[in-house]
Amino acid sequence: ERTKYIVGNWKMNQNTQDVIAFFDAIDSTKLRHEAWIAPQAIHIPICLQNTDDFKIGAQNCATENSGAFTGEISPASLKDIGAEFVIIGHSERRSIFKEDDQTLNKKTKLALENDLFVIFCIGETLEEREAGKVEEVLATQLAQGLAGVSSEKIIIAYEPVWAIGTGVTASPEQAQEAHAFIRQYINENLSLDGEKTSILYGGSVKPANVEDLLSCKDIDGGLVGGAALKADSYLGLHV
Ligand code: 13P
Repeated sequence: ERTKYIVGNWKMNQNTQDVIAFFDAIDSTKLRHEAWIAPQAIHIPICLQNTDDFKIGAQNCATENSGAFTGEISPASLKDIGAEFVIIGHSERRSIFKEDDQTLNKKTKLALENDLFVIFCIGETLEEREAGKVEEVLATQLAQGLAGVSSEKIIIAYEPVWAIGTGVTASPEQAQEAHAFIRQYINENLSLDGEKTSILYGGSVKPANVEDLLSCKDIDGGLVGGAALKADSYLGLHV
């Protein structure tokens, strides 16, 4: 049985008061799975000061540990301040900030060298799904993004782009089908143990649909945006 995770990706939301109110309102006896939050990077210390129950991580990191890279976030510095993981390859990083597979591969390797867990995100657009290219897209993102990567600190997140922030969730059947493909693909083609690697689903996960998603054989948790911003809603994901 693989561990299950409920990871909140707060994106560019929450101010310091929201952060403190969130952890104040968390009744830790209600956390049934691994509880992780990725706040804005500048809020990582304040999160760490306000909880012992969550792992806290970043939403992105640089391709280098130090040097002349104005505005970037060093994975070595993330480790240094107590962050334990980093999300890499989120579709917003890929589409808005034009991060390509080679860049994501470099970031992933460096984050792992710094002993951070990596939540590596992949997923197809609606256009790609309608063109019957889901498996091709996922295989390419996995092959290029995780080339040469062998680690037990890799977690994969399947986030179909059409389900992110849209209220349209992949059906449990659609998600399970993609997750089973991912598990088989990494087992057969990459240096990752398909049976041990956790694969999270992301895209409009909420208390009303989380149970059906988590009951699927190959879905090991959720990577959650909107429904993870408030403590009540976040706790409602721990079913
Ligand atoms: P929503 O849960 O708001 O759809 O966001 C999903 C996501 O992008 C998590 O990384």
